[in-house]
Amino acid sequence: MKKDVSVVYYRSAQESVAEAINLSGTFDKLSRGDNVFIKPNIVYWSREAQVPPWGMITTSRVVEDVVRELKDRGAGQITIGEGIITFDPKDRETSAHAYESLGYNELSKRFGVKIVNTFERAFRRKRLGDDVTLNFSVDLLDADFVVSLPVLKTHTQTVVSLSQKNLKGCIDINSRKRCHSDDRHKNLDFHVSMLADVLPKSCTLIDGIYTLERGPTYIGKALRSNLLIASEDMLLADIVGTALLGIDPGEVPHLVMACEKRGIASSIESADVVGEPVEMWARPHKWDFPYNKDNSLPVYLEYMGVKGLSFPKYDHSLCTYCSGIIGIIQYAISKAWKKTPYDGVEILTGKICRPNPEMNHTLLVGKCQIKLNKDNKQIRNSIPVPGCPPRLDKLVDGLREAGIDVDPDIFKDHELAPELFMKRYLNRPEFSWDFYKIEPE
Ligand code: SF4
Repeated sequence: MKKDVSVVYYRSAQESVAEAINLSGTFDKLSRGDNVFIKPNIVYWSREAQVPPWGMITTSRVVEDVVRELKDRGAGQITIGEGIITFDPKDRETSAHAYESLGYNELSKRFGVKIVNTFERAFRRKRLGDDVTLNFSVDLLDADFVVSLPVLKTHTQTVVSLSQKNLKGCIDINSRKRCHSDDRHKNLDFHVSMLADVLPKSCTLIDGIYTLERGPTYIGKALRSNLLIASEDMLLADIVGTALLGIDPGEVPHLVMACEKRGIASSIESADVVGEPVEMWARPHKWDFPYNKDNSLPVYLEYMGVKGLSFPKYDHSLCTYCSGIIGIIQYAISKAWKKTPYDGVEILTGKICRPNPEMNHTLLVGKCQIKLNKDNKQIRNSIPVPGCPPRLDKLVDGLREAGIDVDPDIFKDHELAPELFMKRYLNRPEFSWDFYKIEPE
């Protein structure tokens, strides 16, 4: 049976969110007194640098408006929870800094909203079927009603990251690593397609005030799109969101898998849309980073003429910690390149990638690569970079040992990298910080 998904053009605070919720009956299953868990998307935060939030982080405007709607409908305790990945897994201050900066503590004062860092709370094992077991935040599992508040964005591994993928922020670190499995069938897409199966009553409001190409982080390019998508059905909302990103939902593996399980087509025809016509607002968003023909170098390094180096494209088995350093390595190589071919160097990441016997030096980045390839007889000079996340000092040493003279400061100051991307948004008033503030009343 078809269900409604609303698409609303964002015009004003409170009214636009209320319109999206009302048009599609998004909160119809909410009962008075229900304890509600809200999952925004704060994919990255830094205490050191100004991070461009547009298209990467759910706007505080939408979070506040949703809290007000819930309160008006008699919701009980509201909890906002997120598990932000930080380079130091023990870092708790960055999350607290994010919540304060984004105005969540003001919601706490005003509406009694509880703000939690899911990594400081308990997790509970949940069996999802097909031998998949993941540990979910108890705050999510014990809620009566869950509201997913993702951003309308693309993702370099899962093509899009919408309501279902947003739930990955509610599982513990080990479970996140398990999602990035080396199993070619039970891979990242497979796990993401199952995440919503554990939920109690739930719904979504996808925040498309800003959208993002080549997400999920600040490296991608944000666009001002002014769209809101709401539904009590996450899968259908994600199908509509994908179409609005100009991507065929049938090309998104985790959506295809979830649709197959439900017995519906992975196409926009499965969703009965109210509000704005999807075809009118759909705008192409690039999601993939271009690599050369054999996927051994990103095209921009090939254009620069880099030779004697193979840095194969990341695959689904690469988890967030390791994917965070791919861009840093590429940037450091681009700065180190002196137009003299390297001596046959390869840099391997993730849990699947195998060495090329023609290479002279093989960097095995992270504990998974070391485990996979440490005894591989085809490797001439093995350079292990231990750790999970991989140790940056060892990475610098390893690259230099292989003859790539990278600047260690690029790795030491990696927390400042987001500032480089801020330049894109300077003197563009449509990229406003006001959407990421909640002012005291
Ligand atoms: S080493 Fe990298 S790929 Fe392996 S578990 Fe750690 S973060 Fe994931």
